Amino acid sequence: MGKIQVLDEHIANQIAAGEVVERPASVIKELIENSIDAGATKIEVSVEEGGLDSIRITDNGSGIDPEDCETAFYRHATSKLSSSRDLYQIRTLGFRGEALPSIAAVAKVKLLTANSDSGLGRQVVIEGGSLKSAEDAPAPQGTDITVKELFYNTPARLKYMKTIQTELGHISDVVYRQALAHPEIGFVLRHNANLLLQTQGNGDLLQVIASIYGNNAAKSMLSISAEDPDYKITGYIGRPELTRSNRAGMSTIVNGRFIRNPALQQAIMRAYHTLLPIGRYPLLVLELQMHPSLVDVNVHPAKLEVRFSKEAELTAFVEAAIKETLSQEVLIPQVVKQK
Ligand code: ADP
Ligand code: MG
Repeated sequence: MGKIQVLDEHIANQIAAGEVVERPASVIKELIENSIDAGATKIEVSVEEGGLDSIRITDNGSGIDPEDCETAFYRHATSKLSSSRDLYQIRTLGFRGEALPSIAAVAKVKLLTANSDSGLGRQVVIEGGSLKSAEDAPAPQGTDITVKELFYNTPARLKYMKTIQTELGHISDVVYRQALAHPEIGFVLRHNANLLLQTQGNGDLLQVIASIYGNNAAKSMLSISAEDPDYKITGYIGRPELTRSNRAGMSTIVNGRFIRNPALQQAIMRAYHTLLPIGRYPLLVLELQMHPSLVDVNVHPAKLEVRFSKEAELTAFVEAAIKETLSQEVLIPQVVKQK
């Protein structure tokens, strides 16, 4: 008999968990993405002790059909992709079917969900990848997931968790990004019962910017809007005097997905050019819309990095749109303007 064996589902999930679930913030990112994909208009995130004790996410989305509640925790089980052609046309945030099995492999998870407002739903409890219970239970429409004792069965990973404050910093980043990417969704973030963020969900991006960066920052933002046959930009860009010491305030969102792309960041920096002091970066939130076939999101498990199929065209468009917006409000030296 040969030595090669196919790994069983349990071990495969633990390995996948290592990639998908790096820390509490990654759990929250995955669960919020699921809520957004389910069409939620309200998403509440409550965490205890930096998310290491408990993470709870409640949404008012579609809910999960009772017969799908256990399947949702299988590896590569997804309602979002049905053929490999779909992979080139992705409109949802998730599609790999890896988040729920990975999270459940390394924590104690309780899922309570209902797919209608009949008041009847289903509750499933999974601990360390093993199903503990599955039963009908009263529930409002939507999904309520609690993740307790993350990494309780992977002590080596637990050991690498930083202080509660550091973990909370990562968690706030994740929730802020999603709130910026989805001003049409009302977000709430609580830590140990302290309210850290609340957005209205009325579609007003400037209000979201104000609740994250403060009223003064929001007041000095310029509205940006541009369109060509392939791309559409909306959002707000900071006046050049509103600078920051790092790139963290440069938010780029593509089709509702918060992304990082070096070429895009360079294009933004070229557009501000000499308007910014050396070593300073702008505050901005750029929302880009394009056909899903123009962007490949299947590059990285956390889906933060993407590839653009027409990168040069896109970056030139972004650079021109920012320059144009800045030139209307700011006195740009003529030399620069004519370039
Ligand atoms: P993916 O998001 O890649 O499909 P997940 O493991 O994150 O994989 O979720 C598996 C499936 O469970 C999803 O495809 C979806 O059908 C269902 N699901 C998970 N979370 C929610 C939610 N909050 N609301 C509705 N359905 C959900
Ligand atoms: Mg998902």
